[in-house]
Amino acid sequence: MNKGQELYRGKAKTVYATDDPNWVIMHYRDDVSAFDGAKIAQLEKKGETNNYFNAFIMQKLENEGVKTHFGKILNERESLVRTMKMLKVECVVRNICAGSMSKRLGIEEGTRLPEPIFEFFYKNDALHDPMVNDDHIRVLGWASEDDVQRMRIKTRRVNNILKPLFEAADIDLVDYKLEFGRAADDPSGPLLLGDEFTPDGCRLWDKKTGEKMDKDRFRRDLGSVIDFYREAARAASAFHFKNPPETLMNGTPQQTAGYSSASNNLPRMGEQKFFCI
Ligand code: C5P
Repeated sequence: MNKGQELYRGKAKTVYATDDPNWVIMHYRDDVSAFDGAKIAQLEKKGETNNYFNAFIMQKLENEGVKTHFGKILNERESLVRTMKMLKVECVVRNICAGSMSKRLGIEEGTRLPEPIFEFFYKNDALHDPMVNDDHIRVLGWASEDDVQRMRIKTRRVNNILKPLFEAADIDLVDYKLEFGRAADDPSGPLLLGDEFTPDGCRLWDKKTGEKMDKDRFRRDLGSVIDFYREAARAASAFHFKNPPETLMNGTPQQTAGYSSASNNLPRMGEQKFFCI
């Protein structure tokens, strides 16, 4: 399999074709953006940091039985993922009140919620991703009633896996955003977690110091953005190394065999050097 043409350029990632239409390459750039693209910058090593961060989380989730689009890491900035047809909604879970929930409801940032709160948002930059409910999604045909329930269940399941993972590293998983879809070659198959899980799309707070370790450092001009992303990865993976998972491959061996030999020399999950980047 070879890297093909650029298919899509997002705010922080570019997607490239491969010669297998069922697999694409997700390339993590150094670009960072906030406020619907109104604030943009480049941060050195962001691409590789997020590529590794995402791979670590996706493999953790796969190991715990959450199906994702993730195939494997290809190189410092690229991962192989399944070609997906994504649903047009974002799923947010909040463990601690922050960000838009604080603003919308006038609740102080940092207020711990007695149980996680789930929210849906409609993916539409021009409308600034408005919050929607189950009825909007079902009636407007963005997802079936069953998929709405599946997204709720899967997003909460992710919380049950990742909250303790970060907790063990003395980090609060404050909130996060997930996106789901189906593999293009399996349109009636299971709902898969797509996109990414990195500090660009979640909030992580150091439990001891209260320091933010996520994109709020960029949004709020707090500095040292990538240093904190890396520290979160290092701390969370220190726990993970006690139970290193197998390197996971989605799809059939034939589908992914082309990449196996090319990636043999790359850092692998479970090696201490993995996050010494
Ligand atoms: O802005 P808000 O507080 O609603 O964000 C909740 C969580 O979802 C945050 O972790 C934020 O980084 C993430 N998010 C995202 N992409 C969006 C909206 C929110 O990653 N378009």
